[in-house]
Amino acid sequence: MLSSVAASLPPLAEVNELSRRFPDIPRAAIVKEDLLRRGMAWSHEALEIAARFKPKAYFIFSFDMVPIEQMEQNENTRAPEEIRLVGGPDGFPPVVVSVRLNPASPYRVEARGETLVLEAGGQMVSSVELQQSPDYYRRTLANGKPIMDIAPTIEWGYLLYLTTFRLCQYFGAREECQFCDINENYRQQKKSGRPYTSVKSVEEIVEALEIIASTDSESEAYTVTGGSITGNLDGLSEVEFYARYPEAIEKRFPGRWIGKVVVQALTKEEVRRLKDVGAQIYHPNYEVWDRRLFETLCAGKARYIGHDEWVRRILGAAEVFGPENVIPNFVAGIELSRPHGFATVDEAIASTAEGLEFFMSHGVSPRFTTWCPEPLSALGKEGNGPAPLEYHVRLLRAYRDTRAKHRLAPPRGYGEPGLGRAVFSVSAFMDVLPPLESDRTAADRPLESV
Ligand code: SF4
Repeated sequence: MLSSVAASLPPLAEVNELSRRFPDIPRAAIVKEDLLRRGMAWSHEALEIAARFKPKAYFIFSFDMVPIEQMEQNENTRAPEEIRLVGGPDGFPPVVVSVRLNPASPYRVEARGETLVLEAGGQMVSSVELQQSPDYYRRTLANGKPIMDIAPTIEWGYLLYLTTFRLCQYFGAREECQFCDINENYRQQKKSGRPYTSVKSVEEIVEALEIIASTDSESEAYTVTGGSITGNLDGLSEVEFYARYPEAIEKRFPGRWIGKVVVQALTKEEVRRLKDVGAQIYHPNYEVWDRRLFETLCAGKARYIGHDEWVRRILGAAEVFGPENVIPNFVAGIELSRPHGFATVDEAIASTAEGLEFFMSHGVSPRFTTWCPEPLSALGKEGNGPAPLEYHVRLLRAYRDTRAKHRLAPPRGYGEPGLGRAVFSVSAFMDVLPPLESDRTAADRPLESV
């Protein structure tokens, strides 16, 4: 899979090489992408420390590169949700990275007394900071369910992640998206004994948010999401099922958080229903731009809705929500997966940049998460390794520059943009966007505006 010359180099040599070739992409953002695509290992001593901080909640997928049954140190219950890189030989500003577990990764978190460091091939990369568990992580609902199961937070506390349906009705090899392990992850979490509610009731969500609202001031947005509903669930269609949550949340806590909903590309009438109940941001994720790859890697979506109709519905949603509030995700890197993906980074970047140009020229604001091949997904079972780091670095540049070309403001509901300020943890796209004008120092600004 790794095809570039740099791929044969040890990890920091590859980072060095790409830093030299792409000096406009901060080195800390390159390391972040490398960590996301390859995962990280933890020493026994580092896990002992991490177990006292905010744990990984498995908020929707596994995002790990080994199944739980192969975690010899019980990393699944002891590793943190996220780490924050800071300092080190290159003086990194704070950069938040989602923890994707991979005991075989060249990146290792090690303990130095009571502090943690990230190393690669034995070389120091940076210091590592962890986030305290919020008080509500120690609380339960009246029915005994932990709040960490019902309403975990990610993005360093910014986002409440409400996976209200932990399964997907696209089922089996012919329908499930090839990069997705939602159904397999649900099974492995239940088998491991983790409290893991398959369908969360509206009452459970509102009760959890009552507790969070009374104790927490850090969360600023929530995401309501889950698997696709192709038939019905509890007698409800997809839009009827998911709309109940923002409806109840906005009735009880009007405007308290920025409400975001991640569901399939719906008809305009259905999208209007989401808006009417108070959702502010809509994410109809298109996963991959290339039509052939969409039809292969997202066979269920292609069969039930279709590529062209999916794209049409995204543009239709822009008329309802306003284009800047339609933020479809794609999974960065699956364009290069075997056996169906592009053969070269050049082709993958050209295709994805075409998609960015198309959506951004309509004012729609795609965003992406960095793909790591989860072993329980179909692509993982095919033995895929991650996409080359060069692809991810060039994508950051294409993304930033296409946004700038179309003068798009930073996406809403992601916290602040800019290196040292961003909290979005599953891609570095927010780290490479320019900081808000109010946050820029005189030295950051172009001469004419100083
Ligand atoms: S629609 Fe695809 S990506 Fe979404 S949960 Fe189902 S299988 Fe996973």
